[in-house]
Amino acid sequence: MTDKTRNDDPFCSREILSETLFYGTKSFYVLYDIKPVVPGHVLIIPKRHVMGITELTNVEFMELHGLLRMLIPKMLRLYKSDGSYNIVLQTGRYSGMSIRHMHIHLVPRNRRDRYQIRNNRLYVDLERNRKGMGRKFVDSEVKRLRKAFESLAQSHKSDLNSA
Ligand SMILES: [Zn+2]
Repeated sequence: MTDKTRNDDPFCSREILSETLFYGTKSFYVLYDIKPVVPGHVLIIPKRHVMGITELTNVEFMELHGLLRMLIPKMLRLYKSDGSYNIVLQTGRYSGMSIRHMHIHLVPRNRRDRYQIRNNRLYVDLERNRKGMGRKFVDSEVKRLRKAFESLAQSHKSDLNSA
């Protein structure tokens, strides 16, 4: 299912993708965002039709890591960033994901970019949802998550208990 090429999404349809494609590796495409928020806004897209990061194989994940280590400094140099950038990955219907095929936004930032004023927009929007999520809520969530992650965190258990 996840290996299937879909014609109903623009990232599986090579025709559309090739319009702004500028680099590729064995498993990933790198293309310019067709509606960039700042200059240098590019997308890293797995060639396989996957929805999210957890569907990548270990080999693909390592390839992605290598790609990012090459791509990020290069893009920041090209767009004269001082080292500032955003990585955005939205997954699933309620995340703001638009095209239902995994895509990582790499957004180089610099002090002149016009998006700067909206940097905290995400938090402004999210603050509206804060009601009912005070300290008591946080404490209960932490308790729940510690329990859920208990078996994975055996080596750190003493750290948690002494905290
Ligand atoms: Zn696809």
